[in-house]
Amino acid sequence: MTDATSAALPNPPAALGLERNVSLARHTYLRIGGPAAYFATPPDIDTFVRIWAWARSHEIPLRIIGGGSNMLVADEGVRAVVVSLRRACGSFEFRGSEVHAGASVMLPALAKAAAERGLGGLEFAIGIPGDIGGAMQTNAGIGDGRSIGDLVTGVEVLRNGVLVALTRAQVTFDYRHTSLRAARELVLGATLALTPRPREEIEAEMRRLLSIRQATQPTAEPNAGSVFRNPPGDSAGRMIEAVGGKEVAAGCVHVSTLHANFIVHDGHGTAAQYVGVMTEVQRRVLATYGVRLIPEIEWWGDGPPPEVFQ
Ligand SMILES: Cc1cc2nc3c(=O)[nH]c(=O)nc-3n(C[C@H](O)[C@H](O)[C@H](O)COP(=O)(O)OP(=O)(O)OC[C@H]3O[C@@H](n4cnc5c(N)ncnc54)[C@H](O)[C@@H]3O)c2cc1C
Repeated sequence: MTDATSAALPNPPAALGLERNVSLARHTYLRIGGPAAYFATPPDIDTFVRIWAWARSHEIPLRIIGGGSNMLVADEGVRAVVVSLRRACGSFEFRGSEVHAGASVMLPALAKAAAERGLGGLEFAIGIPGDIGGAMQTNAGIGDGRSIGDLVTGVEVLRNGVLVALTRAQVTFDYRHTSLRAARELVLGATLALTPRPREEIEAEMRRLLSIRQATQPTAEPNAGSVFRNPPGDSAGRMIEAVGGKEVAAGCVHVSTLHANFIVHDGHGTAAQYVGVMTEVQRRVLATYGVRLIPEIEWWGDGPPPEVFQ
C-alpha cells in the first residue's frame, strides 16, 4: 500500500470503529509487516456485518486476522479492512462433550479448558498458536495425522452478510487445506466433538507434546511455524537441511539452525528479506530434488504475490 493509494481511501463512519494505518507487525506472530489501511475489532457480529457491507460498498477487500501465526505480511502493508474477531467471537461454551467455540478462541486455551473438564481430542492443539477461525483454513494439525477436522461437527460462516450454519458434511478437510479456505468463507465459529478422558492423562500428553516442540522448534525467535508444506512422502525440513538450507540468510532473516523448515529473524527482519530466504530455499530444493516446495504460510500483500508463493 503506497501513501498515494492510502490517501485516496474513503473515511469510514466513526460508528464502525475502523482505525487507519495500523501496523500488522504487532498483530502477527512473525512480527513482520506494514500497515493495514483499516483495522477493526468489532464488539459484536452486527458491527462486523456493517463493516463487511461498508468494505464491499467501497470495493475494499476484507481480511480476518486470527492468531496471525500463518502469514507473511508485505512491508508495504495491505489495502484492506483487516478485522480481528477477538471481541465478537471470543467465547466458548461446553455442552456435554461438545464445545462451541467462537472463531477467535485460541487453540491452546481451548485445549486447556477441555482438559479441565476431562475432555480429550484437542491435546494435539496445545502448541499451535492459532485460533479456531485460522484452524478452519488450514485444518491445523500435527505430524502424527491428528487435525482439527477430525473433531468438527459444524461451522458457522458469514456468507454475503448472512450467518450460515454448515454441517460437517458440507466442509472438506485435507492436509493443511479446507473447502472453507478455497471458498474464502468468513468463519464465525465451530462446534467440536470431544471425548471423555482423565484430566491427568490429557495434561501429561500436552506436556509431552510441548516438550517436543521446545526441543525441536525455535520458540524464542519470531517465526511463522513451518514455512513450507511437506511434499507427499517426504519432509520439507529434511530436504531443506540436506541442501544446506541452514546456511541461507538475508539481512536479519535466516533459516533456523534448530529446524530447517522454520525461518526466523532477530526482530528487525523485513518481508523482502523473508521472501529472499524462502526463494533461495525453494530454489535449492528444486535443483536437487526436482520438487518445488509449496509455502504453508500465506502471503498478505496487494497485487500479485512474490514468485515463491505462486
Ligand atoms: C510456532 C508455530 C508453530 C506452529 N505449529 C503448527 C502446527 O503444529 N500445526 C499446524 O497446523 N500449524 C502450525 N502453525 C501454523 C499456524 O499456527 C496454523 O496454521 C493456525 O491454524 C493459523 O491460525 P491463525 O489464527 O494464526 O491464522 P492467521 O495466521 O491469523 O490467518 C491465516 C489465514 O486464515 C485466515 N483466517 C483467520 N481467521 C479467519 C476466519 N475467522 N475466517 C476466515 N479466514 C480466517 C486469514 O485471513 C489468513 O488468510 C504454527 C505456527 C507457529 C508460529
